[in-house]
Amino acid sequence: MKTLPIKHFDIEGAHKHYTDGVIHKNIRVPSRKISLSNGKALFLYDQTGPYSDPRVKLNPSKGLPDLQIAKNHSGKNVTQLYYARKKIITQEMEFVAIRENCTPEMVRKEVAKGHAIIPVNINHPELEPMIIGRKFLTKINSNIGNSAISSGINEEIEKMLWSIRWGGDTVMDLSTGKNIHETRECIIRNSPVPIGTVPIYQALEKAGGVIEDLTWEIYRDVLIEQAKQGVDYFTVHAGILRKYIPNALKRKTGIVSRGGAILAQWCQSHKKENFCYTHFEEICEILKQYDVSFSLGDGLRPGSIADANDKAQFAELKTLGELAQIAWKHDVQTMIEGPGHVPINKIQENMDKQIKLCQGAPFYTLGPLVTDIGAGYDHITSTIGAAIIGAMGTAMLCYVTPKEHLGLPDKNDVKEGIISHKIAAHAADLAKGHPLAIARDNAMSDARFEFRWDDQFKLCLDPEKARNSRKSTFSSDKKCSKDYCSMCGPQFCSMRISKNIKNN
Ligand code: SF4
Repeated sequence: MKTLPIKHFDIEGAHKHYTDGVIHKNIRVPSRKISLSNGKALFLYDQTGPYSDPRVKLNPSKGLPDLQIAKNHSGKNVTQLYYARKKIITQEMEFVAIRENCTPEMVRKEVAKGHAIIPVNINHPELEPMIIGRKFLTKINSNIGNSAISSGINEEIEKMLWSIRWGGDTVMDLSTGKNIHETRECIIRNSPVPIGTVPIYQALEKAGGVIEDLTWEIYRDVLIEQAKQGVDYFTVHAGILRKYIPNALKRKTGIVSRGGAILAQWCQSHKKENFCYTHFEEICEILKQYDVSFSLGDGLRPGSIADANDKAQFAELKTLGELAQIAWKHDVQTMIEGPGHVPINKIQENMDKQIKLCQGAPFYTLGPLVTDIGAGYDHITSTIGAAIIGAMGTAMLCYVTPKEHLGLPDKNDVKEGIISHKIAAHAADLAKGHPLAIARDNAMSDARFEFRWDDQFKLCLDPEKARNSRKSTFSSDKKCSKDYCSMCGPQFCSMRISKNIKNN
């Protein structure tokens, strides 16, 4: 492996803390300890891996240390769903239970029902297990990956670390350009979070970029190659059937999913059914040997407000629900991808239909973006929909950056996309009444009311930006008064007045 730009990062005010397993004594579960100036401490969910622990030596040429968790499974079926149904609490289940502050038995039950997944390929031993399900903290995914015209391996690794630094719970490598295999290898070996891919992209590269030359055999070989490498979940567009294509083509913006468009063209050219659908059981056989989870792709997601909740979208969703049943028959963990562009008044129907048609399988949505006019600000149009659908029970939100619809995101776009979707996920968790989320907000409110500025910075998502914003409105450090800010000024600080009333 080439030498990569791998290094530790500082998270202001945070210290790495570990909790030992009770059932499985060998596991050490990380959290982020925030020590406050009032003597209290808060333990936050932390997915940054060894990068935020200076005590762990990093080795850029070898990758992260092996956690010795995933390797303990062997046999033909190694999935967490298989073990959960056998009533076995695995190390991964206890790991996520400690992270989420719930019981290992609750984790096992949710996984056994198919209502949650723990994406953890047995060949990704650097991974710290995490869970995606409506009863748990809402997660976010960030996308990285080179394209034919932009970005190299070092830049992609930097983007991955940057995503993790700011709170990405999973990372999807959407590379379509050169060195796909090598880029992915560097990413997996250095990632403490699950890595997802869309294997049809690499299959198309192998077919020389000619859609008509794609075959099931090429696709199957890519699945095996990536599963062996350690990819934790695959987006598989198996729900896009030939009969759905005419309706999709009548839309304002047609088919906007890359994978969906590729497979639709293949079906039309060959006058055959989608090979991901016709070979679905063989795909399950491959995935269950490595515990790769399905992310059943929404190839017909709406790409504009006018196309939301249409016939093509919901026909595909019904098929995805049927495919989830087949995946579960093989003990393959499964989540379902969702839209897209949806106006606020049509979001609830998406969630209701997904729960009904997919029997509670976790929903993983892109936004939804609630208007089409936000170019340059589509991380905002996305987070509005994401917060709403998250509060309704969507388990993971795929981030959207300000570059959406415009170009490949750079580092700053990645940060903006991550932070805005962390806010959406956290807002959803508050709406769902998650105690960890409520505790953080209460600590922030106390710090705000007591003018403990440093504590406020430690508790927010971007301490540096918050600190600089406050500082920049005072002409000097000395003038940076403790008990007001420049928003209302000293005479009109309502919190100070309110405190005075309370104290007198
Ligand atoms: S000045 Fe206004 S905005 Fe600033 S701390 Fe006081 S109440 Fe809050």
